[in-house]
Amino acid sequence: MAGVWILGENHEQTLELLNGGRKLADQLDTKLVALFRGVQELAPEYIDYGADEVLVLPPIAPEQPFSSYVPIIVEEARQEDPDIFLVAATTRGKEIAARIAARLNTGLGSECTGLILDPDSGKLHMKRMMFGGAAVQKVVCTTRPQMATIPLHTFEPTARLEGRTGQVRELAAPPASAVSIIERKPREKESSNITEARVLVCVGRGLQKEADLELARELAEALGGEIACTRPIAEELHWLPEESYIGLSGQHVKPDLYIGIGISGQIQHTVGIRDAKVICAVNRDEKAAIFQISDYGITGDLYEVIPRLTAELKKVLQK
Ligand SMILES: Cc1cc2nc3c(=O)[nH]c(=O)nc-3n(C[C@H](O)[C@H](O)[C@H](O)COP(=O)(O)OP(=O)(O)OC[C@H]3O[C@@H](n4cnc5c(N)ncnc54)[C@H](O)[C@@H]3O)c2cc1C
Repeated sequence: MAGVWILGENHEQTLELLNGGRKLADQLDTKLVALFRGVQELAPEYIDYGADEVLVLPPIAPEQPFSSYVPIIVEEARQEDPDIFLVAATTRGKEIAARIAARLNTGLGSECTGLILDPDSGKLHMKRMMFGGAAVQKVVCTTRPQMATIPLHTFEPTARLEGRTGQVRELAAPPASAVSIIERKPREKESSNITEARVLVCVGRGLQKEADLELARELAEALGGEIACTRPIAEELHWLPEESYIGLSGQHVKPDLYIGIGISGQIQHTVGIRDAKVICAVNRDEKAAIFQISDYGITGDLYEVIPRLTAELKKVLQK
């Protein structure tokens, strides 16, 4: 038995992993198996999106943690012996992947941003950032399945295909977990999800005071975008919530347009915007590192540049 397995936590992640997984399965001439958690009636949809088989994870009681699925996934993997197993690198995805890898006694490449299959050996070369994004590490897993967690937006979501057939199978209910959740409290959400924004206006320590965030908000609003920041703005100054900062220890984003305002462009920040389609920066220091990775740069004082830029954009966009 063999196969490429994927596990995403939601629809979007599943479509992205199906895209990456499909290519690997075709190269290995094997089946693509999607593990799916949700309404069973929706499971066949993933066949249309490229899966050859969908394994439905049964619903679990609210007090059971996500990791309750580990024993049944491990059991299935032992029987089916997949070649490759890709898991979305969400908080829960990373936890469950590590537990599965440990039980299967296999290796796990974490947060892999590139996958290249050697067709002769079947070895998966996994690329991952290290030293704060200053270097790329290539790892191979010498055991099976070759497991990797994959950050969001590493792959484009796959498109629906016509005329596909495949199997849907429900897995057995997991055994009662040794851990039980006593209470769930939703985290107070103060900001939108910047990983989904098409336009991001990102502020850095070039801003002098919290009230000046308004400048960035106005620009973001004019462009129909969201506001984001560097780590010091969220973690040291607490002007924006933690989920608003981009970078190595923050969010990885993939907007069509990123505008960095008063940001020096340290690698720990820019590693989070490397997939942005267009990068613009405003900085008064012409030698600021951010200009080296920018498609467009404006050297100037943000307090002069941003209000003028916003006013001009409003004029153009209102036409
Ligand atoms: C382990 C580790 C992990 C990290 N992870 C992250 C991370 O995930 N994300 C992150 O962002 N950082 C991270 N950092 C911090 C990172 O190294 C930088 O310190 C941080 O990104 C700098 O933020 P900044 O660009 O806002 O500030 P600064 O580096 O202080 O830059 C401010 C910039 O504003 C410009 N400026 C000042 N006034 C004006 C003005 N009036 N008009 C125009 N420009 C002006 C200055 O020229 C300067 O370039 C991490 C650091 C470490 C050690």
